[in-house]
Amino acid sequence: MQTSSKTIEDADRRLPLKGDERKGRKPGRRSDINGNLERLIGRHFLEYVPPTQKKMEPTRMCVVCCSRRKPDGKKVRKETRYHCPDCDVGLCVVPCFKDYHTKTYY
Ligand SMILES: [Zn+2]
Ligand SMILES: [Zn+2]
Repeated sequence: MQTSSKTIEDADRRLPLKGDERKGRKPGRRSDINGNLERLIGRHFLEYVPPTQKKMEPTRMCVVCCSRRKPDGKKVRKETRYHCPDCDVGLCVVPCFKDYHTKTYY
């Protein structure tokens, strides 16, 4: 059995990814980050929940976390100090902010 195995690796094209330097994650699985995502996020900004007279450090429930359920069926309750003023929802910095603005089913 003879196979002339000249593998021409022309498929190794690397696309220059802009704005993808925030990968401080654990090695392992690559996350699919595409350009659209970046653009979507660009419209909205994460901000601190503004302090009120009652609370200096108010928190909001994260809508993304709270839309999930734990494996045991309980609702996830997660408070965050951040929100998106445009959407008027509380969001964790990571990964919920990104999730919320890139997935349409919330
Ligand atoms: Zn969250
Ligand atoms: Zn938003």
